[in-house]
Amino acid sequence: MGAEQSGRLIIISGPSGAGKSTVVRELISQCDLPLTLSVSATTRAARSGEVHGKDYFFISQDEFSRRREAGEFLECKEVFGHGHWYGTLREQVASGLKQGQWVILEIDVQGAMSVLEHQEFNPITLFIDPGGMDELESRLRSRGSETEESITTRLETACAEMRYMHRYQYQIINGSVDVAVAEICQILKDQKETQSCSKS
Ligand code: 5GP
Repeated sequence: MGAEQSGRLIIISGPSGAGKSTVVRELISQCDLPLTLSVSATTRAARSGEVHGKDYFFISQDEFSRRREAGEFLECKEVFGHGHWYGTLREQVASGLKQGQWVILEIDVQGAMSVLEHQEFNPITLFIDPGGMDELESRLRSRGSETEESITTRLETACAEMRYMHRYQYQIINGSVDVAVAEICQILKDQKETQSCSKS
């Protein structure tokens, strides 16, 4: 994959409920770079409004295991210890990079660490900080889709995930989506500039 690669890989992590999905969606629509989102596979059920093939590939546990054994995942993890698996499909990453796109992986910290271990992609890594645990809790509650148990698990996981924040090149506080998007877009443009300078 590495030799054919002409795009860039971008990893964005942060606790569930930190507003990552909104930031990523707005980034793709507002930032003037060839950004694309790698659509992951998951065994969790679709939330209301989520679309198969756009938000995730929603697949069964059996299909996930089969594709995992076939080596289709660049990384995959059981993210919340609730039996839900999430995985980055190699094909999503390879085809995007080959087309010169900047492929965004919106994945959890364990998945990010596992991609970094490959030392294959020289990814740009960003961590979205929700701006405090109270803020995170109120965002999770306002979704209205999480059970009490799920909220507790996600808050516990968030504490664990925040400990990895320093392993990322950039930490972005998501106080306002527009500000976070502008900040990330500028970081990526600066990286592009550095990349062109080092080639010339
Ligand atoms: P949610 O269920 O809220 O969509 O996502 C839960 C968590 O799974 C989020 O932190 C999200 O970033 C992470 N996630 C989504 N896709 C992947 C993936 O392909 N791999 C890994 N490791 N984590 C993922």
